[in-house]
Amino acid sequence: MTNPAFKTSIATVSISGTLEAKLQAIAAAGYDGAEIFENDLLSTHLSAREIAAMMGDLGLVCTMFQPFRDLDGLPEPQRARAFDRLERKFDVMQELGTDLLLVCSSCSPIADGNRERTIADLTEAAERAAARGLRLGYEALAWGRHVHDHREAWGIVRDADHPALGLVLDSFHSLSRKIPSSSIGDIRADKLFIVQVADAPVLDMDYLGWSRHFRSMPGQGDFPLDDWAAAIRKIGYQGYWSLEIFNDRFRAGSASGVALDGYRALRLLEGGIARPSASATSLPPRVKTSGVEFIEFAASHEEAENLAAMLRPLGFRPTARHRSKDVTRWTQGLENPVNIVINCEPEGLAHSFDVVHGASVCALGLAVDDVPGALARAGFLRVPRFTQALAPDEWPIPSVRGVGGSLIYFVDAATRAAMWAHEFPHRLEDPVPGPRLAIDHVAQTMQYEEFLSWLLFYVALFDVGKTPQLDIADPMGLIQSQAVENADRSVRFTLNGSLAAQSLTSRFIQNYFGAGVQHIAFATDDIVAVADAAHAQGLPRLAIPRNYFDDLEARWGLEPDLIEAMAARDILYDRDGEAEYLQFYSRAFARRVFFEVVERRGYAGYGAVNAPIRLAAQARHKPDFPD
Ligand code: MG
Ligand code: MG
Repeated sequence: MTNPAFKTSIATVSISGTLEAKLQAIAAAGYDGAEIFENDLLSTHLSAREIAAMMGDLGLVCTMFQPFRDLDGLPEPQRARAFDRLERKFDVMQELGTDLLLVCSSCSPIADGNRERTIADLTEAAERAAARGLRLGYEALAWGRHVHDHREAWGIVRDADHPALGLVLDSFHSLSRKIPSSSIGDIRADKLFIVQVADAPVLDMDYLGWSRHFRSMPGQGDFPLDDWAAAIRKIGYQGYWSLEIFNDRFRAGSASGVALDGYRALRLLEGGIARPSASATSLPPRVKTSGVEFIEFAASHEEAENLAAMLRPLGFRPTARHRSKDVTRWTQGLENPVNIVINCEPEGLAHSFDVVHGASVCALGLAVDDVPGALARAGFLRVPRFTQALAPDEWPIPSVRGVGGSLIYFVDAATRAAMWAHEFPHRLEDPVPGPRLAIDHVAQTMQYEEFLSWLLFYVALFDVGKTPQLDIADPMGLIQSQAVENADRSVRFTLNGSLAAQSLTSRFIQNYFGAGVQHIAFATDDIVAVADAAHAQGLPRLAIPRNYFDDLEARWGLEPDLIEAMAARDILYDRDGEAEYLQFYSRAFARRVFFEVVERRGYAGYGAVNAPIRLAAQARHKPDFPD
């Protein structure tokens, strides 16, 4: 692999911990440099020289010192004081070993908005910086009092025309104000001193609060960052791409985790730009998937029996046993079946997973066209590869670490039939005919703090898109929900992050001792038949109150027969235009995992409107399955 073309940097404000811990995490994640945020300097016992020495030891360049606020347009005596303050910062910069200072557009209520004054003040500041071999980068804050648009800031920098004065472009300030990225074409690359990168969800709120609390890593929000970054590339910019993320969740998270997320996000951004002309770099493309090939549960023998009691009514049978391990393949359907693997091995990852989490999903196998390419992409994003000793003759299925320490296997789509035949040669029961199922979606739950991290994991590694974020009411709190889906929707994951310690989603996480798969949804084109067969064979179903169905009738004007058919089977309903969604849930297995069956009649969502009904029903059933 060639060296990545982006020079990477991150502002120390983006992550949690002491300055030393931040710098170590930044270096370990692989960045080339870091911006030192003034507050981090003020709150450490290290001197600026010691920080410089530490960064040198860690191989990090100090890319910038920031911020310097309210310089231009001040009356005297405030103006003289601001310039004195500037000289003090120059002293610090020289000790830190950086030559670049970020100067924000003024927010001072006493600043004069006169453009000539601004140019004159910035020119004088640049002259003083140049005398000490330093440079200033001028940034238009979205909430700047007079200058709040990079086009205006660029005009000022251009007209000041001082070699020590350049521009700082920050994606948040430009994209929150919807400034067209085409305007970047007017900026001269040699005058663009640094680029700061942040994504954010589109929110209708004040710019300052939005920026301070909701910035996120590229790929986690809604900004059109690919176009923005492509416009910067196009003018020939060769400098640092520096993350500047203010986010309460990241400050509550682990420094190394957030630093690594950021590194992945920059690589993702680089990949997005590189895509149109792949020759620019040799980035491995995003991993294309063609389906969920299997879902693997880790379970003790006793737990496996409880799980079997839920799988049989859905038409699954244990059809084969692993060649050498205590692992059973359950299938549903005669051709191209749905595969569930139950791993009762007394050693290895599945066993340790079962010990830590209890019976639960420990791995997902995804069918991919290009396994070596998938591994290359994962390596590029620093996703840890998982290796376990292979028995002689064992079929190698490479895997990486996914949500909550579970695994994602890359199954070669072309040879999967051979893989099953080789690994599971011992036939057990015959599959049974009946309503056919397919895997529709896999729902994963996590703490709110981890939510963005997992979202980024999926969008960076896989060729998937994301749906808009939804907030779902839980009887005891709020849940943030978002789905990632591949193009043909053969792979769909829903991610659910709980904001409240007492929400039912949180309870699932607590029962899990970590993030993981909360439910598996199967698709059918005859939900009534599946519900009846499952009921006849004893699948414990989640009971839905009659009030729900009365409301449905009133809301949608459905035929009474259909309402009765759904009420009798606890089938929930949603509609989007002409598209309809029918869904029912099983009770929970081992208080952690449950099954859903859906019938999509052209419907693309996940029945979010019914989630509060489901959550309330589950709250009534606690404790669910005795285990
Ligand atoms: Mg900035
Ligand atoms: Mg679902």
